[in-house]
Amino acid sequence: MREIFLDNNATTRPAPEVVDAMCRALEDTWHNPSSIYRSGQAAKHALEEARAQVCKLIGCGERELVLTSCATESVALVTRGSFEAQPRKKVLVTSRMEHSAVRQSAEFLGKRGVEVIWLPNDNRGIVDVNALRDVLKTRSDEVALVSIMWANNEVGVIQPVQEIGEICRSAGVRFHCDGTQWVGKEPTNVSEMPIDFLSFSAHKFYGPKGIGGLFVRRGLRVEPQVIGGGQERDHRGGTENVPGAVGMAAAAKLAIEWFSSGARDEMRERRDRFEQDILRRVGDCMIVGQGAPRVWNTTNIAFKGLEAEVILLGLSERGVCASAGSACSSGSIEASPVILAMHVPAEYAHGAVRFSLSRDTTSEDLSQAAEIVEQVVARVRSTAPVA
Ligand code: PLP
Repeated sequence: MREIFLDNNATTRPAPEVVDAMCRALEDTWHNPSSIYRSGQAAKHALEEARAQVCKLIGCGERELVLTSCATESVALVTRGSFEAQPRKKVLVTSRMEHSAVRQSAEFLGKRGVEVIWLPNDNRGIVDVNALRDVLKTRSDEVALVSIMWANNEVGVIQPVQEIGEICRSAGVRFHCDGTQWVGKEPTNVSEMPIDFLSFSAHKFYGPKGIGGLFVRRGLRVEPQVIGGGQERDHRGGTENVPGAVGMAAAAKLAIEWFSSGARDEMRERRDRFEQDILRRVGDCMIVGQGAPRVWNTTNIAFKGLEAEVILLGLSERGVCASAGSACSSGSIEASPVILAMHVPAEYAHGAVRFSLSRDTTSEDLSQAAEIVEQVVARVRSTAPVA
């Protein structure tokens, strides 16, 4: 059975060029970059070349990029590290649309004396910028960090990052943007944006797992969360992952080349046709976040009266990989917090399924997947209706 992989927001297949570059790095530059001898310095050189290439992907200077193990670590570094760097500030502003890396970091900080302000969002998932403006009008001195993502991992909705950044900048408040589902999918240039920190992860753009990054704007300081060794200019201790960095750099180079091919519009049309195909074939379903700007590769389709897990199992039996943000908690399946935050009607919220395309997803993949979705939903509806 052929696998149709439509779960690229969970992870992507490393590109062949990435695998090649990493294999070479594992064989040739396995030495410790902190070592003084020639082979150690060769590893250091490979690391710094890789860093420079990754900086090109996001438009920052080489001294502004901290290499981490993943976006979750980048988020921990900037959230906790910002409070430790500004001990007198006790307020974090974020939203319920965030990935659990940010949401749970906020809850963690909330239990340690930080006041967390959750900005409201509209039904499309767009954060209310006026609410942010109001908070910062009166409390900017207390706010250590505003953390709002770029593209949402479950529904693909794009937040008004430019406007949010401008509001933060004019209030003198630090702005972290979780760019994990944006970087590598869309061109990014932080040097032209009012963003102070940007987190991202290589395995979301055809790079390896185990390596990510945090852009830290020049002049700003976050306290390290992993200490010892002084690597990454004292931002993150631990021997550097040179093969990982080399793999991320290869992925960054491919992403930049792909942007110039102009294929994003074509992929967006492909995604839109897939949605229309599903709406035509399957009754009682809705596109979550429709009407909001969305990243080209993501669609979230909610099927009325069904549990997403049952659909996912049916799809998996037929070779289609997709996912849902819902999770099993205390024996019952809870709808995804993001879907709930978007006020999706209850009878749809449990049946929300995310399909996320890769650069290589073809129209044939999508038309086959749509046919399989139609069959699976029809079967599930005839046997296991929930509502
Ligand atoms: N932030 C967002 C928006 C994500 O989608 C993810 C992963 O899905 C993460 C953070 C965490 O990424 P990582 O797996 O690199 O820790």
